[in-house]
Amino acid sequence: MNVVCPHCLKINAIPKKDSYTKANCGSCRNSLLDTTPIELNETNFDHVVVNSELPVIVDFWAPWCGPCKMMAPVFNEVSQKYPLKAMFVKVNTEEQQSLGAKYSIRSIPTLIVYKNGKEVKRVSGALDPLSLSNLVNEFV
Ligand SMILES: [Zn+2]
Repeated sequence: MNVVCPHCLKINAIPKKDSYTKANCGSCRNSLLDTTPIELNETNFDHVVVNSELPVIVDFWAPWCGPCKMMAPVFNEVSQKYPLKAMFVKVNTEEQQSLGAKYSIRSIPTLIVYKNGKEVKRVSGALDPLSLSNLVNEFV
């Protein structure tokens, strides 16, 4: 299974298992089990979405958006439950306006789930931890 290192974004091939006690990046040596959401930009977005065999959950947000700020700790908290099951990333649509335009983000927060490089689900509006977990569970 190919996973993208959340630290250096290098592609790692790892055995597919039900759970992992330890997995480190072959390039930067940091843990691949780290699920803390990372910020992506227009240069690395496609690389991550296309090369990750894990579902990629993208939070399109902006600093001026109140519901986005409420959603941020929820996104962080839920991400911790999915080491090497899902990858959690964020796109700041104020800084990455071309990505917002490319994916037709009309309201934020908008969550998009990508699997094998394709959009498989889109939800607009802030989610609570249970709703977000349920959404992720559909794809892991
Ligand atoms: Zn790495």
